[in-house]
Amino acid sequence: MIISPKEFYEKCYGNYAIAAVNVFTMEQIHGLFRAGEKANAPFLVQMTPVARNYAHPDMLLAMIEAASKIYHKAKYAIHLDHGTESHAFDAIDSGKYNSVMIDASHDDFQQNVRRTKLVVDKAHKYNVFVEAELGVLSGVEDDISIDEKSAKYTQPNEVEQFVESTNCDSLAVAVGTSHGAYKFSGGQGIQFNILEEIQQRLPNFPIVLHGGSAVNQEDVNRINACGGALSQGASGVSPNEIKKAISHGVCKINIATDTRILWARVNREFFWNTPELFDPIIPGKEYMDAYEQFMLEKFDLLRATGKAAQFI
Ligand SMILES: [Zn+2]
Repeated sequence: MIISPKEFYEKCYGNYAIAAVNVFTMEQIHGLFRAGEKANAPFLVQMTPVARNYAHPDMLLAMIEAASKIYHKAKYAIHLDHGTESHAFDAIDSGKYNSVMIDASHDDFQQNVRRTKLVVDKAHKYNVFVEAELGVLSGVEDDISIDEKSAKYTQPNEVEQFVESTNCDSLAVAVGTSHGAYKFSGGQGIQFNILEEIQQRLPNFPIVLHGGSAVNQEDVNRINACGGALSQGASGVSPNEIKKAISHGVCKINIATDTRILWARVNREFFWNTPELFDPIIPGKEYMDAYEQFMLEKFDLLRATGKAAQFI
């Protein structure tokens, strides 16, 4: 059942967060919807332009629609992650998206405002929610690649003017998280002083955290034990940071890297341990089960388990 993101954020603000999970494949959509239904937890299913190119936008939407029939108690919304104007307009025109992100965060302030407002003006006519971004996250995800020197924390003194000028509905901020598997290599973590000031300046306004994966070191070690070569020792966002971020107005936490690391771990171990096998459905089933378990734990961490009962 589709619920408006606006309703999600009004209910969760300050208490729990909505997991916004990037999907590329059928296995991930099964794992996500199955876990959402089992945990009775609300969630956002989101797609980047790269995911839409990989599977085809219609294919992803058709699989999500099928999942909502198979797991008919799941409560969710559909979101476009990291769109440009043309992606956002395409998503709005499809009539299938409840929410879009316009990512003009790499532009200067005025240009970011102009581009964001253009999307907001169209989206609001169709009752579509808009997430914008201020500040620049470092890291690598899909076709985004920003080195640490080019990253820029969100300036709290800009947030009120940005939200007022664009009329966006939620704001993604750069407060120390980064995209990809090599987060916090300098060990700096989330800058709560910045997050706190943003919350004070935008009371009750939903804040979004990109790069919210935990990067499980046990999974990284297991990948490397089966022939992988991932760098070790770059931790993700800790459970304590997640809890603290929720109390500071973070309503949506993006999760992508963790589900990819999980995929690599399941498949590497499977083919390493049974090199004589070649059938995709055996590791595919293992991945779906592992994904479900991973999401059940994530919903608990975000305190979202059971919260779908708030939406009828
Ligand atoms: Zn992101």
